[in-house]
Amino acid sequence: MMPIVLSTENRVGVIGYPVSHSLSPAMHNAAFAALGMKDWRYDLLPIPGDILSKSLRTLRDEGGYMGLNVTVPHKQAVMEFVNPDDIAQAVGAVNTIHFRRNNFATNTDVAGVIDDLRANDVALEGAKAVVLGAGGAARAAVYGLVQAGAAVTVVNRTRNKALDMVKDLGVDVPVLNVAGAARQGADLIVNCTPLGMMGSYEGLSAWPEDVPLPEGVTVYDMVYRPRFTPLMRQAEAVGGRAIGGLGMLVRQGAAAFKIWTGKNAPVDVMFEAAEAELAKSR
Ligand code: NAP
Repeated sequence: MMPIVLSTENRVGVIGYPVSHSLSPAMHNAAFAALGMKDWRYDLLPIPGDILSKSLRTLRDEGGYMGLNVTVPHKQAVMEFVNPDDIAQAVGAVNTIHFRRNNFATNTDVAGVIDDLRANDVALEGAKAVVLGAGGAARAAVYGLVQAGAAVTVVNRTRNKALDMVKDLGVDVPVLNVAGAARQGADLIVNCTPLGMMGSYEGLSAWPEDVPLPEGVTVYDMVYRPRFTPLMRQAEAVGGRAIGGLGMLVRQGAAAFKIWTGKNAPVDVMFEAAEAELAKSR
């Protein structure tokens, strides 16, 4: 009979497809090293969609994985195999699973964006906030901003998708076009579209050049590759502030780290590791 070898490692990792550009392994492994957590390891796990359910079972039951991060394209699909909490259910997507807590699953993108806005001293309560987009990231932003007491407006290329999002989230939030949102004024604009992102979206902005941004507005751009986007430049041109999305990535990771380990994540260490990894891919 083959001996059963029990690993003393606490394994976690990120599933997605493709996932090779993920900054998460560098970020989490740096955090484990900084805290002397020698028996922890974070892996990159490319999993095609057609073997998702089987892979989840294998990773949990045979691979010894105690938890996972989940990224595109599996964030919605994993929901039927885990126990999503209220946040994940409201957002309609999961990005963190804890197998050893009865397959608990949540969405730490909400904490990621809100914690990072707060860490950057962006006032949220009573702020007029415009969310650009109606995909998974926008759902997390709208949910978090409404909870934080902001007066949110949504702008999306496909209006019906924005209306569906607002209905699903159960929030009373207007859906306008860019000109309408500009007329209303804004303290904060959160870009939750890929416009500006390296590759086919590079150089593009979700806010048209011919519609002036509200003066002094803070732009929070979830895009972090590149670090500075056209929308961020537009904000600075009207005397506003521009914050890129790397901090959100780090803070959603820090929230997952806390769920798995019970420890506060070393956010600065994770930020530096993510920055260093990002610099390599340029
Ligand atoms: P998604 O679900 O695919 O949603 C994309 C959104 O962008 C949709 O609302 C879509 O509008 C809009 N959009 C796409 N192409 C557009 C175009 N050419 N013109 C105008 N609008 C366009 O994506 P997601 O998961 O929400 O992610 C959105 C972005 O946020 C990505 O760049 C992602 O990398 C980033 N993100 C960053 C973090 C972070 O930690 N910093 C976390 C999550 C996501 P339609 O409804 O009209 O299709």
